[in-house]
Amino acid sequence: MGFVTPLILLTNDDGITARGILDLKRSLEQIADVVVVAPDRSRSACGHGITLHKPLRAQPVKMADGSRGYSSNGLPTDCIHIGAMEICERKPDLVFSGINLGANLGWEVTYSGTVAGAMEGAAFGIPSVAISVTTFEEGDVFAPAAVFARFLAEQILEQGLPDGTFLNVNVPHLEDVEPTNVEVTRLGIRRYPGKVDVRTDPMGRKYYWLGGDIPDDGLHEGTDLLAVSEGRISVTPVHLDLTSFDGIKTVLGWNLSSYSTTNAAG
Ligand code: MN
Repeated sequence: MGFVTPLILLTNDDGITARGILDLKRSLEQIADVVVVAPDRSRSACGHGITLHKPLRAQPVKMADGSRGYSSNGLPTDCIHIGAMEICERKPDLVFSGINLGANLGWEVTYSGTVAGAMEGAAFGIPSVAISVTTFEEGDVFAPAAVFARFLAEQILEQGLPDGTFLNVNVPHLEDVEPTNVEVTRLGIRRYPGKVDVRTDPMGRKYYWLGGDIPDDGLHEGTDLLAVSEGRISVTPVHLDLTSFDGIKTVLGWNLSSYSTTNAAG
């Protein structure tokens, strides 16, 4: 680290006025310069979307503690782009996304705007962390995660992360005690087989409401789902390479080489 103060770029998907991003900013400011570029409204469940077909803005605003942040009409992915390339004076040393109100576990990481912020940091070659708390209870629920984030930031600044890898962190919300046990985990299986609530609007047209209970396909040993369910902080290294290496073996066993001009259109 030398004598240079580390620079951390911070975003979230709950919006710049959310309590979680403020608590994270104040904690990280104890060890780093922090630049906040965050959506101007909640963008939860926006996934890794990017805005390519309309103008993006990033306006300086006063955050709740009186400090400056940048409020953007874009998604978390856009905020990391604008933040890393334009607003930060140099390439950030770390990207943090969060602290999200609500867990991001297992397969649902693909829907998460919080996780997407860290994905984009990793795509930029910056060590990145997505961090969430496992409650939807508003209020003073972020302190344990904010403290852990600072601890983790120091570790990453010393140790680095493999290229294309970010950390997905979930901090359990416990009654009375702060979580101190940390487990390095893999993503569990959390599929949304889908419950579609079909309703009728005042004009008599059908509309749909997606949702249903959060499914857990078993709390398997070593998963993020099991760790947080037993009160441990879960740290999952996630890679942007989504290739299925088992799938390569399967498909190589097919007869794709028999494809020829006789199969091709025309
Ligand atoms: Mn969110």
